Amino acid sequence: SFENVGFIGLGNMGSRMANNLLKAGYKMTVHDVNCNVMKKYSDMGVSTKQTPFEVAEASDVVITMLPSSSHVLNVYNGPDGLLLGGDLLTPQLFIDSSTIDPQTSRKLAVSVSNCILKEKKENWENPVMLDAPVSGGVVAAEAGSLTFMVGGSEDVYLAAKSLLLSMGKNAIFCGGPGNGSVAKICNNLAMAISMLGLSEALALGQSLGITASTLTKIFNSSSARCWSRFNAFNLGIQIIHFLLYNVFSMFSMHSCFLLGKKSGGGERVRESLIHIYMFSRACEAGLVLSRICSTILKYAQCDSDSYNPVPGVMQGVPSSRNYSGGFASKLMAKDLNLAAASAEEVGQRCPLTFLAQNIYTEICNDGHETEDFSCVFQHYYSGKGE
Ligand code: NAD
Repeated sequence: SFENVGFIGLGNMGSRMANNLLKAGYKMTVHDVNCNVMKKYSDMGVSTKQTPFEVAEASDVVITMLPSSSHVLNVYNGPDGLLLGGDLLTPQLFIDSSTIDPQTSRKLAVSVSNCILKEKKENWENPVMLDAPVSGGVVAAEAGSLTFMVGGSEDVYLAAKSLLLSMGKNAIFCGGPGNGSVAKICNNLAMAISMLGLSEALALGQSLGITASTLTKIFNSSSARCWSRFNAFNLGIQIIHFLLYNVFSMFSMHSCFLLGKKSGGGERVRESLIHIYMFSRACEAGLVLSRICSTILKYAQCDSDSYNPVPGVMQGVPSSRNYSGGFASKLMAKDLNLAAASAEEVGQRCPLTFLAQNIYTEICNDGHETEDFSCVFQHYYSGKGE
């Protein structure tokens, strides 16, 4: 039920996402600091504004797709920012799809919910925010097949789902504010570390005299194909089974309760009800956990059989075209910085995160920042390819 959509940040990803919204028939108002981009959109007949605040004034929902946390904070809280209206905002919903740290997503969600709507809209008391970073890159943004990992209130997520699905093929609810950002940085962390492990093993194998394609064949049918992922995947399936089982049990217990009430079993029935309630809360927590796990596991794949980093072993992957057209090392380094900072903030020990952060920073400093992150194989492990 959103008619007027504001979009801020029309770069590699944002321009393609905005184009898909235009195709879907939304009335758009856009803004970017880059004048050339703004001109392109005004030439297409799209309403362009000079400031985020003016975009907010014209929109029911505003989507941001910006490089990093500082840009997002500036667009929301800066002079002429989205929240300048303070206690009288026009948009009921703000969606940030940038990859940023969860702490910033959570702070922004609070700032937004402290504002007031200029006009009360059906079922919306206050303006609200969702963090909805994406997986899929430029190709998926163009094709409208992104996956959104969404944090915030579930009702709001459901209300926004059709809007998100105009830009993607999948939207997965990950839990409360900031959990979309958590899923995104954990996804990329798992992917970065898998890539380093794979590259290191392939490089050592080559140095010890085995070809990368033979070693790849072994990996693809052996335990190097990430057992932990499959075990964790099975765990996710088991959690879902467990939940389904409990839903059915709850229904049958409910029938017993009705039967018990009819036959006058008061106190025992009350006790059972308390147990059922506690049980259902635990199930809810389990469901959110399993959603986050399955999101991370589904998209954190970086295997020898799907994204091989050695040139010549696989066709159609960045390593077969000089590491172009993939996920740039500088973006991976940025996401690892977010993961490392978040780990430090909550005091979580993550030794491999810090190692991966150093390696990707070094690759960028050595001039490979625009190459796909699988270039770690050539530039860090000095492998030569098949
Ligand atoms: P980009 O640099 O191509 O685009 C960012 C756009 O934001 C630019 O057009 C820039 O002019 C604009 N901008 C910067 N500051 C602004 C401000 N203050 N006000 C208005 N506009 C401003 O970046 P991108 O590749 O589109 O990535 C955007 C986000 O998506 C990043 O957080 C990135 O990590 C994430 N992401 C990127 C990919 C990818 O493959 N490129 C994949 C998944 C997620």
